[in-house]
Amino acid sequence: MNKYELTIRERIDAVKNLIRHPITYGCYEIMALTADGGWLCHNCCKENYKTILHSTRVIDRRYLDQWAVIVTGCSVEYDNQINCAHCDREIVEGFEDND
Ligand SMILES: [Zn+2]
Repeated sequence: MNKYELTIRERIDAVKNLIRHPITYGCYEIMALTADGGWLCHNCCKENYKTILHSTRVIDRRYLDQWAVIVTGCSVEYDNQINCAHCDREIVEGFEDND
C-alpha cells in the first residue's frame, strides 16, 4: 500500500470532517476527491453521505467509483476551475486568462 494513501478509516473521517466543517476560517471550501478523479462539493457529500460511506468502504481501484472518496482537500490549494462532479456547482473559480 502506498504510504501516502489514506486508510479507509482516515478517508471516512475526512468525509465526516468535511461535512461538519465544510468552510475554513479563510472562507475556502473543503471538497472531496473521488476514485474517478472528480471532486464533490460539501453539499453533495452531505446529501449522499450513505452512498459515499458504502463506496469508500468497498473501494476497488479497478472500478473508478464516483462516490469512493480518496482524500479531501481545500479549494485554496487549486487555481484551475473545479466544478462539483455531481451538482456541477463551481467550487473553485479558475483564474481568468486576460491575454
Ligand atoms: Zn455538489
